[in-house]
Amino acid sequence: MDFDYPTELRFKCIECGKCCGDTTEKTRHILLLRKEAEKIAEAIQQPVSMFAVAIADKAPYTFELRKTVKDGKCVFLVDNRYSIYVLRPLICRFYPFELKPNEAKRHTFSYTDDCSGVNRGEQLDEAFFRKLFQLACDKLGEPEKR
Ligand code: SF4
Repeated sequence: MDFDYPTELRFKCIECGKCCGDTTEKTRHILLLRKEAEKIAEAIQQPVSMFAVAIADKAPYTFELRKTVKDGKCVFLVDNRYSIYVLRPLICRFYPFELKPNEAKRHTFSYTDDCSGVNRGEQLDEAFFRKLFQLACDKLGEPEKR
């Protein structure tokens, strides 16, 4: 595997729900792969249109999760927990991290400080990022090298 990752970074999700919808500072777009949307639809026995809207120009993502009118949070968020946790999309499994190709023909993990779990908990090691990298490969295919 060919990636760089932030060393000496601690992270532990505190289930604050901040990344699961809009905040006063940010409008959140929770994107879904077609396969993810179809699996959720099958699991809850509802059409995709009940919980997501089709989107263009965000490939490989084809849907965006709907949010509640009441508080702008993901429709699957219940008491700050994802009600269909095992089916949570790649984008949610990845947050607060992002993986991008770099000049050295590798891939780099970056993260956002917006997440309340950054700098909490245990220091993350290569195994943590390897798991995330593998997850991305499984869902999206092997990332291209530049
Ligand atoms: S913002 Fe960070 S700490 Fe809060 S729910 Fe999302 S991942 Fe967890």
